[in-house]
Amino acid sequence: MAIINSEAFREFENDAKTLSNPALEDFRKKGGKVIGLMYHFIPEEIITAGGMLPYRMRATGSKGTEMSDSCFTQINCSLVRHFYDSGLKGRMAFLDGVVSVNNCDHIRRLYDNWKWKIKTPYMHFLCFPKKTGKEQVKWYREQLEGFRKSLEETFKVRITDEKLHDAIKLHNETRRLQRELYELRKGDVPPITGAETLSTMVAATCMPRDRYNTLLKQLIQDCKASKGRNGYKARIVLFGGEIDDPKFVDTIESQGVLVVGDVLGYGSRAIAANVDETGDPLEALSRYQLVDRPADVRIFGTSFDRNEYVVKTVKEFKGDGVISVRLPQCDLYGIEQTTLSFHLKKNRIPHLGLETEYVLESTGQIKTRVQAFLESISEARHDRNE
Ligand code: SF4
Repeated sequence: MAIINSEAFREFENDAKTLSNPALEDFRKKGGKVIGLMYHFIPEEIITAGGMLPYRMRATGSKGTEMSDSCFTQINCSLVRHFYDSGLKGRMAFLDGVVSVNNCDHIRRLYDNWKWKIKTPYMHFLCFPKKTGKEQVKWYREQLEGFRKSLEETFKVRITDEKLHDAIKLHNETRRLQRELYELRKGDVPPITGAETLSTMVAATCMPRDRYNTLLKQLIQDCKASKGRNGYKARIVLFGGEIDDPKFVDTIESQGVLVVGDVLGYGSRAIAANVDETGDPLEALSRYQLVDRPADVRIFGTSFDRNEYVVKTVKEFKGDGVISVRLPQCDLYGIEQTTLSFHLKKNRIPHLGLETEYVLESTGQIKTRVQAFLESISEARHDRNE
């Protein structure tokens, strides 16, 4: 289903298919430290400012959870079981540190078990508020101050405000470029598929950022020169949490649809806003996570805004329908999928809710459901035209 022919994209694609990659290995060979982010809400900029590489943890290529099953059961989400299994098997031995956050009980337990058995040299935990507002920004800023100090003491580095400002600018440049790429997908003949876009977004989280920005500029030029794709049957907006597997998106697109936009952790949620480049950098990073970026599912009182953000995305990307996805044991996204479903119905936007495990095991059912969804989209088009 590929569209794009680009050297830069090929590097991104390979990086998203594996845990380590040549650029990361090169960084390590030069003595660079790699810090794993167990989930979102953790400002990568603080790690970059310390001269280290922030690495968004994944379990790409995981084949099973047999080792992780000693600590987790079937009621734990498969994302944490595959993460932990990969950790126990040494697949993430290149990490010099791991930082986590109180996203959900599954992630909390993953952090505890990781600390207990995997023993990555540096471990740090951040408490992220469940509400958003001035008090919470102040609270989380204190957490980030503690994180800065802990990195400085452990790795013998200085993370000055000046270095933080530089790191914020570098990461904002990534967001700006990624938004430019997303803009190109709004046209009638998008130059890049949803699966290719996800590879591109995942690659940002596992390689040195300046190299990524250089390659992304090249990819955008290649996209502008590309003929793009038409002839697809429907334009889809994909909604979900930590979807990091381009193969999953490719399975959806193999049915003749094109994923033109998304509301994903690795996608538009990560790039919709920039971090303020003025004033106190830690406060700006705290405000970005809590206020400026689209609210995440665990933030109380933001459900309506989140659902409206999906509707807005559908309009902007001229979507014909929304496919939402969640892991079966994930309560947070289970509730989200239900409220989103009502909201989309009210807005007369066709919606397909899928459940899939973290590692894609079989694609047949997804394909059948997408084919059936295409019929709903055709009916909705017909009703609108009547
Ligand atoms: S998928 Fe859901 S249950 Fe699993 S770690 Fe993410 S929020 Fe928690």
